[in-house]
Amino acid sequence: MAANTTNCLKAFLVFLIVHLPFLVLSRCLEHKNPQSFNTLLSLEGLSKGQTDKNLPYLRQYLKRFGYLNYKETTLNGNYFDEVLESAVKLYQRNYHLKVTGKLDFDTVKKAANPRCGFPDIGLRFKSINNGDHTNNGDDDPDFLFIKNSSLYKFFDGNPKWPAEKTHLTYTFISAVHPIPQEDLSSASSQAFAEWTRNSKFTFAEVREGAVSDLRLGFFVGDHGDGHPFDGPLNVLAHAFAPTYGRLHLDGAEAWSLSPPPPGQIDIVWVTMHEIGHLLGLAHSSDPNAVMFAQVTPGVARRALTPDDIAGIQALYATP
Ligand SMILES: [Zn+2]
Ligand SMILES: [Zn+2]
Repeated sequence: MAANTTNCLKAFLVFLIVHLPFLVLSRCLEHKNPQSFNTLLSLEGLSKGQTDKNLPYLRQYLKRFGYLNYKETTLNGNYFDEVLESAVKLYQRNYHLKVTGKLDFDTVKKAANPRCGFPDIGLRFKSINNGDHTNNGDDDPDFLFIKNSSLYKFFDGNPKWPAEKTHLTYTFISAVHPIPQEDLSSASSQAFAEWTRNSKFTFAEVREGAVSDLRLGFFVGDHGDGHPFDGPLNVLAHAFAPTYGRLHLDGAEAWSLSPPPPGQIDIVWVTMHEIGHLLGLAHSSDPNAVMFAQVTPGVARRALTPDDIAGIQALYATP
């Protein structure tokens, strides 16, 4: 009996030693996991003058993607005020929705779609490790593009690669490997080829660890550049404006190299989009453009559109 009790105790201790780190880790991950974009669906029907416990999440979302300025409002308020209404209208205008300022079905549905992590407006996206690669002013967001008839956009200040730099090298550095390295390499070479066909740029892969202009890879959660990834869907990837050359894919996504089955994400589409940022294109308002911020799971997009091509040609038309 005593021996049995001792054995049970031993078994329990072994269980704890083996499982405790995982239990603690999973609790931490659970705790750190941010709200999903689907939270926005619960806000359908709300308009100015109403309150809701999830309005702070909408404020954070609109701030993150450039529609709200910290200085203008408190991010923690549960009250739907005028400033929030203006931000919703701006979002609706940018996505060609009916501009009502109300959280109608089309608006919350659109906002809940998976997307690129780069803001649509304001375009302040800098690495905490390197401040020299993008505009980093902290003025009010630039809303002027709304008046512009073209749908493609550049970053504030039009950062781009120097005129003589038309051949860019790239390498892979990943923290995780959700798909085989050969698949990432194949997806990237398809994506780069599409930009080569439609711009003055050529690209070549160099061995891992070699000096290169561009670095691509999979990361999860907080990966040191101040823009943590957020698990499946929501934000899928991000990249930096010229000439920083970093392209990060969220390793938590269900990536697909072949045309994706329902729920999976086309890695060629997303990589093509992020390369557009590396070259100096911001988000287009054209829903068919590769440079449109949102990506539809289960759908492949493998070619640049006239809007993307007009954008890259215009950016590099002058030295
Ligand atoms: Zn983007
Ligand atoms: Zn990153």
